[in-house]
This record gives sequence, C-alpha cells and structure tokens, in this order.
Amino acid sequence: MRIPIHQVTPESGQAEICGWVHEVRDLGGLAFFLIRDRTGIIQVTIPKKRASEVVLASAKQVSRESVVRVAGPVKAMEKAPGGREMVPETFEIVSLARSPLPLDVVEKVPAELDTRLDSRFLDLRRPRVNAVFQIRSAAMHALNDFFHKEGFINITTPKIVAAATEGGTELFPIAYFDKEAFLNQSPQLFKQMMMAAGCEKVYEIGPIFRAEEHNTTKHLNEATSIDIEVSFADHLEVMRILERAIITTYEYVNRSCSDQIANLEIADFAVPKDPFIRLPYSEAIEIAKKKIEEPIAYGDDIGSAAERAIGEEMGGHYFIVDWPSETRPYYAMPYESDPSICKAFDLMHPRMELSSGAERVHDHDQLVCQIRKKGLDPESFEFYLKPFRYGMPPHAGWGLGADRLILTMLGLQNVREAVLFPRDMHRLVP
Ligand code: ATP
Ligand code: MG
Repeated sequence: MRIPIHQVTPESGQAEICGWVHEVRDLGGLAFFLIRDRTGIIQVTIPKKRASEVVLASAKQVSRESVVRVAGPVKAMEKAPGGREMVPETFEIVSLARSPLPLDVVEKVPAELDTRLDSRFLDLRRPRVNAVFQIRSAAMHALNDFFHKEGFINITTPKIVAAATEGGTELFPIAYFDKEAFLNQSPQLFKQMMMAAGCEKVYEIGPIFRAEEHNTTKHLNEATSIDIEVSFADHLEVMRILERAIITTYEYVNRSCSDQIANLEIADFAVPKDPFIRLPYSEAIEIAKKKIEEPIAYGDDIGSAAERAIGEEMGGHYFIVDWPSETRPYYAMPYESDPSICKAFDLMHPRMELSSGAERVHDHDQLVCQIRKKGLDPESFEFYLKPFRYGMPPHAGWGLGADRLILTMLGLQNVREAVLFPRDMHRLVP
C-alpha cells in the first residue's frame, strides 16, 4: 500500500510510494531519482548492475514530472533528503510526462508570474507554491472553526442578483433569461437581511465580483470575501471579533504549518498582538499629508500611497475609525453626536486595507434618507428595505478579503500568488 513520502523512514522496511519525478541524475553506475509527493521528497537510487531489467527499462524511459509508483526497501542515507533512500524492486511509470515541460518545476529558472499562471498546475507542484495553498486551507479552517465556536451560522447567499449593493459601475452584467442581472459585488444586503431573519450571528466565505478596471497587485475581479454580520452589536464589538479572528488565524497557521512556513523561507512569522491601534481617520490624513507628495485632504479616500505611508508609521495591524459619512456607503451608521462622521472602520495591514466594516443603520426611514442622499433610488432597494419595516435589530459587521489576508500574512508580492486561478482584466484562462 502507498505511504506518504514524509512517513517513509529506514524503519519502514519495505515501502511503496507514488509521486512525480522531481529530478533525474545519472552517474554511470548509479541512477538517482528524486520522487516528490505533496508531503515531501525522497531519493530513489538504482544500482545499474544489480537492478532488474524491468526496473532499468522504466528508469531509462521516464521523464521529469512523470507519475511513478515505486516500491522497495528503505535504507538510511545521510546525504539524501530526509536522511533515507529507497532502492526500488519495482519502478512503474503510471503517467509519462512529455518533454519539454512548459514550466520548470525545480525552479532553476525563475519564471515570470504570467508564465507561472499559464501553467498553474505545474507551478503548484513547486513545494513553495503549494505551501501557500496549504496555509490558505489552514487559515480558512481556523476561521471556520473560530466562527463555529463563537456561535455563528454559516450562510450562503446568491451570487446572481438584480441590483447593485452600492449602486455604481463595478458590476458584471450577465445574461439571465430575459432579465437584467449581475454578479454580486458583496453579500452586504443579504447578510443584513439575515439579521431581520433573527439569525443574530452569520458568516459567509464566498466569492465577490468587482468589474473594476484595476491593474494592481492587490485587486482582482473575482476575490474571496469573509463576511460577518452580528445583531445587537455595535462597530466596537465587531472590531474586537475581527481582531480575534485575525490573531486566531495567525496562531493556528503558526502552530500547524511550520513545514510550509519553512518552505516559504519566512524567518520571522509573527502573530499580531492585540489590541490593534484605533487611529481616527482625521489623524490618518494628517500622517499622510506629512509623508506623501500628492495632495490629500480631509474627506478624501485613502489611496495606496497614503495607505503605505500611514502603515509605515503604524508598523503593525491597525484600525482607521470615525470616517467622514460622505466617504462611506449609505448603510453606515452616523454618530448621533456628529452625523458628519460615522461608525465605520477599516482594518489595515501596514501594506494595505484588509477589511471594511461598520455599525449599520437599522431604522427604515433613516436608511431611505441615506440612500437618497447618495443619489440612489430607494425603489430599486425595495427587497432590502422591506425587512427594515418589520422588526430589524441594531447590527454591525465587516467584510475581510481572504486573498489579501494570505498575501500579507505570507509576505507575497502580488495577490495573484494567493489565488489558484486569478481573474483580472487580462486573465480568464485557465
Ligand atoms: P480597496 O479600496 O482596496 O479597493 P474596497 O474598499 O473597495 O477596497 P471593500 O468593498 O471595502 O473594498 O471590500 C472589503 C474587503 O474585500 C477589502 O478590504 C479587501 O480586502 C477585499 N476586496 C475588495 N475588493 C477587492 C478586489 N477587487 N480584489 C481583492 N480583494 C478585494
Ligand atoms: Mg473598503
């Protein structure tokens, strides 16, 4: 029976492994193969004089990245990876790889990201690339577990919708029989409706679609969003949940992914410490004013340059709070004492924004008024407004970008590296 390569030890005795041919070396009397599976790499050594005809024939024919099944005794071998080697009694080619390969898996030739993404299946065979997605999986597990323990209900909301969340042009129209429809840019309206449904604490991890014509290292046209909404909570309470969700996820990855972290050569994987600084928007603008060349004033969006300048000053995760109401969507709750600012926040990593959230307006008439103020038509939000007329509890929530979470956690250069098959303006295949 096949055993995972990292479990093969000299004590295994006779073992069978399946994997890909990572490297081939022929030293005259000896042929060396490195065989790789998801868990590791093992050396397979064929002494040509002693090996059977069948083994020799396969070994001669096999090409790099072919899938093989190999069985034989395992011996200690200090110089080999993992301190052991296998001397095969059988060497079966399960699936022969053609040559040349479109991408070098051994990484002797560093490839451009575009070339890597064109042959993503080969790129993912690289241990350090694969490690990113093993860590992403662990992070998603940690988040699901966190929400479960906190009493959240996992929901799935439609991705085909009739109306925009915030109006605007960032929508992909789709052909939906004889109706106008779009891919949803955010589960915002649906998770709020779940508050009227009495669910109290909901979360969703799912795709969001943004038709932004961006060409940056942090924007995709299809991203994964981690969204929560909580009844009877204010913005401060959901900020604490966000802080704990981030720390719990880092802690879990740190505990359970040490091999993957080593593979990625991250020397100082640091779990962020709470509490994250709460920086008022007005102060954030003042910091940016001093540090960046382009003009920036109270009321402006915080662009990439400002984001980085403020991040440099803060040094770790932090929140920007108390945003001017005009910079935030209609559903953000204004402060009673000063309605020109609202109970909205962004969670920032020093490199970029990770999450946006707020306490929401839960009063129907106030919401209608705020929708109008943004120049939108309440009529097109009737499905959303209806629940606000029949008992809507106060509530708050946030949306956290999963791809950016992984990008910043692992110090990747580009959000595309954190996504299996990224979608951007130029990439629809594979
Ligand atoms: P940005 O200002 O950086 O473009 P945003 O404020 O438009 O982001 P939100 O609508 O607040 O984004 O979405 C919440 C979170 O979802 C963001 O903080 C980000 O982590 C993630 N996100 C949003 N849009 C994208 C995108 N196009 N690509 C990747 N992640 C995204
Ligand atoms: Mg935002």
